[in-house]
Amino acid sequence: MTLIIAMDGPSGSGKSSAAKGVARRLGYRYLDTGAMYRAITWWMLEQGVDVEDAAAVAARADEALIEMSTDPDAPGIRVGGVDVSGPIRGREVTGAVSAVSRVPEVRASLVARQREIMAGGGIVAEGRDIGTVVAPDAPVKVFLTASEEARALRRAREIADPAVSVEATLADQARRDRLDSTRTASPLTKADDAVEIDSTELGLDEVIDAVVRLVKE
Ligand code: C5P
Repeated sequence: MTLIIAMDGPSGSGKSSAAKGVARRLGYRYLDTGAMYRAITWWMLEQGVDVEDAAAVAARADEALIEMSTDPDAPGIRVGGVDVSGPIRGREVTGAVSAVSRVPEVRASLVARQREIMAGGGIVAEGRDIGTVVAPDAPVKVFLTASEEARALRRAREIADPAVSVEATLADQARRDRLDSTRTASPLTKADDAVEIDSTELGLDEVIDAVVRLVKE
């Protein structure tokens, strides 16, 4: 049986590593929807669109040509043929992504593309609204959380830049969480039927085990 596994949660909850690990374990594909919001943000900045101007962002929401790899061992993303895997993790995109992703036209465009990619199942999709909006019928839904400190520490390690302190990462994360949770369009919330896993005290393998157990139940 090939399923859709929805994994949602705030930034730094360990979603990406866990979702990739689950996909590898089960021989499934992997979809990082956050990378798609980051890629469209990169493109808007590249085009000189004022990302704080929702109408300007909405007007161009369908133009970016995003290509995603769904191989958990070789995740990559291109926009208009340009590999943006590195730049979408940079500070500029990270600072602007919440403004772009609150625009309903952007969400409609990306959700349609995500559903196309997910057709056929056999995929672990991670994001903020997979269980609530993109795939409300997914038979396995996980909401991954962790304490604020654990999340900021993980993010800071990922960024691996001594110039960026854990405190700065914590502040940026809190800002993004607030924007993502309070926006009108698809705010970050746990689906009623999602299983919450708190990863604060768990190692990566333990989180993967817990999700795989849900699939086998
Ligand atoms: O997961 P990641 O931190 O890369 O996501 C970047 C941003 O993309 C989030 O802060 C959020 O604004 C947006 N996002 C979203 N819906 C998703 C995935 C990400 O709005 N399904």
